[in-house]
Amino acid sequence: MTGQGRAEIRALLAAHGLKPQRSLGQNFLADPNFVDRIVRIAAVGPGDHVVEVGAGTGTLTKALAATGAHVVAYEIDRGLMPLLEQVLAGTDVDLRGEDVTKVDLSAALGGGMWTMVANLPYNVGTPLVLDVLRHVPEITRLVVMVQKEVAERFVAGPGSRSYGVPSIVAALHSDTELASTVPPSVFYPMPEVDSAVIVMSRIGAPAGAERAIEIAGTAFQQRRKMLRRSLSAVVDDPTAVLAGVGIDPTARPEDLPPEAFLILAEAIA
Ligand code: SAM
Repeated sequence: MTGQGRAEIRALLAAHGLKPQRSLGQNFLADPNFVDRIVRIAAVGPGDHVVEVGAGTGTLTKALAATGAHVVAYEIDRGLMPLLEQVLAGTDVDLRGEDVTKVDLSAALGGGMWTMVANLPYNVGTPLVLDVLRHVPEITRLVVMVQKEVAERFVAGPGSRSYGVPSIVAALHSDTELASTVPPSVFYPMPEVDSAVIVMSRIGAPAGAERAIEIAGTAFQQRRKMLRRSLSAVVDDPTAVLAGVGIDPTARPEDLPPEAFLILAEAIA
């Protein structure tokens, strides 16, 4: 096992005069078994390219590098750099002290096929995953830990309270599965909620996926409203368009499967 335990993380932070910063979502993985579990789920090795978001104290970073994969790791907190350089000494991890939300990942990764493996900071998780699925085709697989509630949104289907735009983006761009739930006790400090690891394997998005996502975005802004009302902002006669493609105009967005948004996008175009 290569991961850091709670005592080691505390000692590393103290030695560098640091404390976990809540505003940056710094809940460090403090259980080597879970680090191993994520690495096993990621199933990467020599010749693979891995991008990690939020290296933290480097526990997952080091374990990923130990598989022989080439690892690029982003970390926004420049205060952690000396600690990371110490932990990652002897590895060839490409450590980048940058805010990943400000990086054009497609350009920065420079081509090839990549797996994103990360224990994502809670405030970055959903928008980052959506952005990667929609705009970073180089990342062909994501193995990411997020809040359980967020994970449920990515895997939800129509009719579920968790179903919404993230579910539709995930379904149009990937096969997504919830691989493992993770209790608060494995983190330092402990978060208030459960987490989960999801695995997203990219599929070729169907034509019209972006338009379908935009329409879903408009419809879900008024989740409780019938589609004939909520779509009036994007189409002149929503009732006729909906009826024309066999969708009940009185249905609500949460009733429509992702494919129906594709059909709707084509009809509106
Ligand atoms: N990978 C480590 C682990 O599992 O222990 C740390 C995970 S911690 C949940 C999230 C990390 O992401 C923190 O170290 C935090 O500083 C970093 N982070 C937060 N926002 C970021 C951003 N926009 N870009 C890059 N890193 C970020």
